[in-house]
Amino acid sequence: MSSALRTVELPTESDSLAFGRRLGAALRAGDLVLLDGPLGAGKTVLARGVAAGMGVTGSVTSPTFVIARVHRPESGDGPALVHVDAYRLSGLDEIDDLDLDTDLTDAAVVVEWGEGMVEQLADTYLVLRIRRRDDDVREITLEPHGDRWADLDLG
Ligand code: ADP
Ligand code: MG
Repeated sequence: MSSALRTVELPTESDSLAFGRRLGAALRAGDLVLLDGPLGAGKTVLARGVAAGMGVTGSVTSPTFVIARVHRPESGDGPALVHVDAYRLSGLDEIDDLDLDTDLTDAAVVVEWGEGMVEQLADTYLVLRIRRRDDDVREITLEPHGDRWADLDLG
């Protein structure tokens, strides 16, 4: 079930990072977030913000070649972030091999380009659709699936 959509304008990269930080601060273990948008849209920038919001201090780069990376918060408290780039995955078998369902027991999972592959991992998930305008402003549409996201206020 999908409830009301909302679109947020992010004029600069630092706005995207700040948006990601607010989302990251709100994430809990078991949360699944899908990032959709073409190459260069800003999916990894958002994931970097999410990591910062979760207290991860290490660098967050696109996990294209390793598929998935686990980032643990510096403090040791709070859920880990599992950041996945599904770009190179060809199908559900490969998603199964990642054991993301196990990760979701104690981590939040953020997946770039995972649509059609990872939704079944959780009852509720959030899709962020990123559109890059000609003026480089990013428009992010929040598409919540399920109740979990109803009260999420990302300003
Ligand atoms: P993706 O992971 O979607 O392929 P990246 O996050 O790796 O994209 O790259 C986005 C690129 O766009 C970065 O080089 C970033 O500096 C640039 N950029 C410019 N404006 C913005 C903005 N408003 N939000 C996010 N990124 C932006
Ligand atoms: Mg990326």
